[in-house]
Amino acid sequence: MLSFGKILMLVGVALAVMVVWRWLKSRDREDAPAKPRTGRRKREALTQDMEPCPACGTFVPAGTGACGRAECPATRG
Ligand SMILES: [Zn+2]
Repeated sequence: MLSFGKILMLVGVALAVMVVWRWLKSRDREDAPAKPRTGRRKREALTQDMEPCPACGTFVPAGTGACGRAECPATRG
């Protein structure tokens, strides 16, 4: 037969499990948006503006000027 003390203890354990469960779930929700945010920042740092080579039109990083390929009229002279 369950005594009042044991029932109270069971209710206490159930409440403790519920509190821990909710805390874990809320922690997961806080972690989830942080990952894509750092990933996006990394991708922005890796992008570079490109512009066409003035001689042959091959896209090169902005500010480079002529592309420097052997086939390019600017390199051949
Ligand atoms: Zn070129």
